[in-house]
This record gives sequence, C-alpha cells and structure tokens, in this order.
Amino acid sequence: RRRAEIDINDILADVVAVTEHTLSLSHIITKLACEPELPPIVGDPEKLRQVFVNLINNAHHAMQEHGGQLNLVSGFDRDRQMVTVTVRDTGHGIDEKNQARIFDPFFTTKPVGQGTGLGLSVSYGIIHEHGGTIEVESPVPGERQTEQPGTQFVIRLPVADQRH
Ligand code: ADP
Ligand code: MG
Repeated sequence: RRRAEIDINDILADVVAVTEHTLSLSHIITKLACEPELPPIVGDPEKLRQVFVNLINNAHHAMQEHGGQLNLVSGFDRDRQMVTVTVRDTGHGIDEKNQARIFDPFFTTKPVGQGTGLGLSVSYGIIHEHGGTIEVESPVPGERQTEQPGTQFVIRLPVADQRH
C-alpha cells in the first residue's frame, strides 16, 4: 500500500473543499483552522482522507435537524511529537452509554438502511495502523455555544522520523 510523507493540512483542506457545500445546504458552517508549522506524517493519504470523510459525514448527520458548526483544527504536540486533529460538531451528541461502543464494527444508532456502523471502526483501524490514536468526547468540553451537547473527536498521529 501507499506510504508517503503527508501534510495533514492538505488532506483537511481537500476534504473540506469537497464537503463544505453539501454541509451548507443543511445550514452547517464549516471552519478549518490549520497549524501553519505542521510537520509531515507518514502514511496512506487515501485512507487518512477516508477517516475525515467518515467523521464529517457523522457530524453532518448529527447536525442535520438544526444546522450548526463543524470545526476542524490541526495542531502540533511538540512534547509527544504528534500531529493532532480535532473534529468538533454542535450536533446531538453521543449518550455516555454508547461512547464505549461507537468504534465497534456494526454499532449504529441510525435507522436500518441509513448506517452500516462501519465508519468509525474502519477509521479506528486506519488511525491505529498509522501508529495513532482516536478519542471521542461528548458533550464537547468547555463553554457551550449552542443548546446541543456536540461531539469532538481527537486524532493524534506520530510525526515522520526526520533523522534521514
Ligand atoms: P454509522 O454512521 O453507519 O452509524 P459509524 O461507525 O460512523 O456508523 O458511527 C457509529 C455511531 O456513532 C453512529 O450511529 C452514531 O450513533 C455515533 N456517532 C458517530 N459520530 C457521531 C457524531 N459526530 N455525533 C453524534 N453521534 C455520532
Ligand atoms: Mg458513519
């Protein structure tokens, strides 16, 4: 499979460019905040792209009724040498009892025919194949911006080994 040095900001910009318009039709505002000094990571750009598409599709679904805001933020954790990406929505959130199960294959709360329950389990697999982690928090910690609890996913990926 493909392994290349990747700038995560490029992937985020690309995914936002192709999804932003569809989200806007559901009254969802997309905001992307890129860390300008982001070191490269190593991996498969198509697979990583799929992770963000999955997360954005879920966020879209969670905000479909009321609209809302989707925030994607990249960052660099210098101490741990990890690139971080936070994907945060202002949607209906995830019940605490379900949070332990959302990464399980076939777990879905969507009506039959609307969800396969595979998006997050596949995403979890892809991130772990890249030596990273993916974590969920709902309600979103910090100051509440809307009536809705919201959800955030935090992804951490190791930076490329630059000793070559
Ligand atoms: P599917 O989207 O097919 O249901 P996923 O694996 O992508 O499968 O997600 C599993 C479940 O996790 C969803 O059915 C939903 O209950 C919950 N979920 C995932 N992302 C979000 C989100 N951003 N907001 C609220 N619930 C979410
Ligand atoms: Mg999904």
